Amino acid sequence: MPVVVNTPSRAKPPRHWIDLSVEEREQAVKDLGLPAFRARQISAHVFERWEVDPTQWTDLPKAARQDIADAWFPVLLTEVSRQSCDNGTTVKTLWRLHGGALVESVLMYYPATRHSAARTTLCLSSQAGCGMACPFCATGQGGIQRNMSTAEIVSQVLAANRLIAAGEVPGASGRVHNVVFMGMGEPMANYRSVLTAIRTLTADGPAGVGMSARALTVSTVGLVPRIKALTEEGIPVTLAISLHAPDDELRDELIPVNRRWKVDELLDAAWHYAEKTKRRVSIEYALMKDINDQADRAAVLARQIRRRGDWTWAHVNLIPLNPTPGSRWTASRSEDQDAFVETLERWKIPVTVRDTRGSEIDGACGQLAAVGRSAGLGQ
Ligand code: SAH
Repeated sequence: MPVVVNTPSRAKPPRHWIDLSVEEREQAVKDLGLPAFRARQISAHVFERWEVDPTQWTDLPKAARQDIADAWFPVLLTEVSRQSCDNGTTVKTLWRLHGGALVESVLMYYPATRHSAARTTLCLSSQAGCGMACPFCATGQGGIQRNMSTAEIVSQVLAANRLIAAGEVPGASGRVHNVVFMGMGEPMANYRSVLTAIRTLTADGPAGVGMSARALTVSTVGLVPRIKALTEEGIPVTLAISLHAPDDELRDELIPVNRRWKVDELLDAAWHYAEKTKRRVSIEYALMKDINDQADRAAVLARQIRRRGDWTWAHVNLIPLNPTPGSRWTASRSEDQDAFVETLERWKIPVTVRDTRGSEIDGACGQLAAVGRSAGLGQ
C-alpha cells in the first residue's frame, strides 16, 4: 500500500470577488438579480473596511447576502497559527490555502523615530513555495506548490489591516503602509496574478485598496523578461533585485536562474527600470561569510552600479544572512560587513543594512518555509 501523505493539491483556488474587474463585479451582481450599484457597496466593504463575510452586511438586501457569499466569497485564507516577537510588533501568520498549501506573511510595525514617521510593512507571499531553488533560502528548499491568485495575495493585506484595526499589533494604527513582495515565492514567476494584485492594491476605493504604488516593492531573483514587462506597465512600484553577487561565477552558484539571465543583463534591466520609472532600484545583497562578503567584491558591485549611471539609480540593501535549517552558509563577521559597507560608501553608493526582524520566529528574509514546526503541527 502506498503511504498517503498530506500533499496539498495544486488545484487553483475558486474565483473570488477580489479577482474580478470592476465591470465583472457589476455583471456578477446583475447575474444575482441585483442592480449594478450594489457592486460598489460590496467593494466598499471589501476594500475600504477589509471585511470578508457578506452575511454581515446589513446595507444589502437580506435575501441577497447569502447568494453573494456563496457565489463570490469562498474562504481563501484560513489562519493556522500566528506568532509574534519584538514585543508583538512583528507578527507572522501561517495560512492554509484552498487545497491545503501553506504560506506565511509577516507584519512589522516600526515606531516613529526622529527621522521617520511610524509605519507598518507587510511582507507577503505570492506563491506557495518557490521554484527558484536558491540554496541559502528556506523557501527555495521546499520547491514550488502553486501560484497564488490575485485574491489570495490581496487578502493578506486585508487581513493585516484587520489585525491592526483589532489592536493586535501594539502601537500600530490605521492600516498597512508598505507592502513588500518578499515573502514566499518569486513574484515575477506569477506575473499576471501579481500584476493584478498591484493594480487592485493601488486602485482608488471602493474599487481597490487605495495604496500608493510607491508603497509597494516587488522583489525578484532576476527574471529579466518580466522586469522588462514591468517596466512597460507604467506603475511606479519599487523594484528590488536579489543580486547577492556582482559576478556570474559566484551568482551562478547562489541563484540558479543566473545561468539563464546573467548579472549584466539583470543590472541593465534594473537600470532601465530606474530610468523609466524614476524609482531607485533596491539591490538586495545577503552577506554570507567568506562567500560574497569580500571588500573587493564590494568594489566590483560598486563599479557595476556606477558604470551604468551615477549613484542615484540604485541603493544597496545588505541583509545579514539569516540561518536556515541545514544551510552551510552563515552570516558574515561584523568586521567584514563593516568593510563591505565602507567600500560601497567610498564609491558613494547608498547602502543600508537591513534589520533581521522576525528571525526568532523564523519570519525573517529567507526563513519562510511554512512547515509544520511553525504551525505547531508537531515536528
Ligand atoms: N523570490 C523573490 C522574493 C523573495 S524576497 C526574491 O528572491 O527576490 C526574499 C529575500 O530574502 C530575497 O532577497 C532573498 O534572496 C533573501 N534571502 C533568502 N534567503 C535568505 C537568508 N537565509 N538570509 C537572508 N536573506 C535571504
